Amino acid sequence: MYTMRPSEFTYHRPGSLEEAVGLLGEEVRPLAGGHSLIPAMKLRLAMPQSLVDLSGVPGLDEISVDGNTLRIGAMTAHATVASSGKVVGSVPVLAEAAALIGDRQVRQRGTIGGSVAHADPAADYPTVLVALDATIAVIGREGAREIPAREFFTGLFATALGPAELVTAVHVPIRPGTGAAYEKHKSPRSGYAVVGVAATYGGGAPAELVVGGVTGMPLRAEAAAAKVTGDPDSIAAAAAAVAEAIGEAAIGDSYASGEYRSHLATVLARRAMTRAVERAG
Ligand code: FAD
Repeated sequence: MYTMRPSEFTYHRPGSLEEAVGLLGEEVRPLAGGHSLIPAMKLRLAMPQSLVDLSGVPGLDEISVDGNTLRIGAMTAHATVASSGKVVGSVPVLAEAAALIGDRQVRQRGTIGGSVAHADPAADYPTVLVALDATIAVIGREGAREIPAREFFTGLFATALGPAELVTAVHVPIRPGTGAAYEKHKSPRSGYAVVGVAATYGGGAPAELVVGGVTGMPLRAEAAAAKVTGDPDSIAAAAAAVAEAIGEAAIGDSYASGEYRSHLATVLARRAMTRAVERAG
């Protein structure tokens, strides 16, 4: 039976990170923009005993460049990432991906921390952050730690985050000379990615092709990406090999069959890698 009322919960709005961490626990959920959590609570898919609203915690919505690292606070809205001069100037593909999320309203309230913690297989940031070899900064009662994005996403709506841990920021390496691009096939209804593919090339690191929306979590097609030498034939071969990396793991649902998703991934991989190569310095 569907209900549109959440079960009873206690609402907390801490004024510091220490206070927020002290409130965390098994039956407690952090609240960012509420874009995924509130609907889940209304449908009783989530029934936390308390919510810890992070909107009063200072400093969680800051963006900074520290040497060769771009730091984006967990509470930074997608619209802010999309328009930030610091992001555009250092890792432009991240701003481009943020601009493709949902619609204007979604981009105003949804946050990068909420997106990575929620780990929706159809979300955009996880795919791009895995391709960029980003790190997720988290804090809990045991202290702070940094988890590589490549280890953070562990499955469908599943992450390496402990129940009493918060995402505080996303750290993205700034690699001059790297060309990067993100291609997305949007669901016409929600804007979520039916399939999204992120590609990087150059900058002294191996090429990357990461596929989102097809399996339960971002899929690194390493053998496919290794085929890219920069010429169009190598990109075509790499894109074709993406289907092999997906194999039988493609998810089919009411939006798209697994077969269609897998095919779309090869098309988007070719486009994304072509743009990444063009952009490489
Ligand atoms: P919340 O809903 O507040 O929280 C989500 C989950 O993360 C909860 O479990 C919460 O406890 C946890 N959480 C939140 N913040 C933290 C934190 N700092 N540390 C630890 N846990 C935390 N996303 C896309 O990528 N692409 C799209 O095209 C897209 N389209 C959308 C369209 C619609 C109509 C809607 C409603 C959403 C869409 N989204 C899309 C998702 C949206 O952009 C948000 O990123 C996502 O819903 C998370 O929302 P939020 O930041 O408000 O987090």
